[in-house]
Amino acid sequence: MVEIKANTSIYSFSPDNKPAATVQPGSVAVFETRDCFSNQIETEDQLFESADWSTINPATGPLAVEGAEKGDVLVVDILDIETAEFGVMTAVADMGAIPHLLDGSETRIIPIKDGWAEFNNELKFPIKPMVGVIGVAPAEETIPCGTPGIHGGNMDTKEIRKGTRLYLPVWQEGGLLSMGDLHALQADGEVLFCGIEVAGRVTVKVDVVKGKELATPILETESHFYVIGSAENLEEAAKVTMDWTHSFLKERTNLTNNEVGMLMSLLCDLQISQIVDPLITCRMAIPKASFSAYKISF
Ligand code: CA
Ligand code: CA
Repeated sequence: MVEIKANTSIYSFSPDNKPAATVQPGSVAVFETRDCFSNQIETEDQLFESADWSTINPATGPLAVEGAEKGDVLVVDILDIETAEFGVMTAVADMGAIPHLLDGSETRIIPIKDGWAEFNNELKFPIKPMVGVIGVAPAEETIPCGTPGIHGGNMDTKEIRKGTRLYLPVWQEGGLLSMGDLHALQADGEVLFCGIEVAGRVTVKVDVVKGKELATPILETESHFYVIGSAENLEEAAKVTMDWTHSFLKERTNLTNNEVGMLMSLLCDLQISQIVDPLITCRMAIPKASFSAYKISF
């Protein structure tokens, strides 16, 4: 089994990135990941401002999948996410969605024990590990790992967790999959601009669907499909996400445009993944059970 070490990382998703490893479709691979601070913050007296900004948001990879080429879809099954024994949160005076509510910059080290994050003596939470940054090499642009887009990237979507399947468009040979920025826990919105940032290991199985158009990343869980859309502001992110959801359902049913619209309005929750990365990310949840008559599949 291929394991890509955390020191083999990128800071931008780029068509020019060279694969760190190549595997056959159907293979399992492990990505060892640093946290979004490149593991630079280990004590509470280290503020975010002290970190080297050029190494923020590393993504381990890229992994090439043999035979994946432009116009295909890369299928990523997230088999497991292991986290380190502590995570980091930073409040930063002028960052995130609520800087006006903060008392300045602060770092918290949050111990993680037996699947629980210990915020303080009174507050402990079960962790829900997720992958913040995951994506492929874009068509032409070079996109920093901190930015989300149709290639994936910094989507900070809490549903990207163990047991889910992510579909990503392919533009470059091998797809060039990279990932990092694990969160032990993060709520929708990610309003402070971080979750419990944590190093770890992600085990995935990769596969390729040949010759299938895909406009934007789609996540499949046991119960839902999530269409994920990012744009410069919340309104636009919501719009592209709804447009792509409408197309997704239209292509997989014999419903009219109006019927799809009605069902989106009745059944499909429009959700905010994050509002703090340079672009905003929304997702729309399509409950599989409600559409069971159509046996919707990717
Ligand atoms: Ca992130
Ligand atoms: Ca993060």
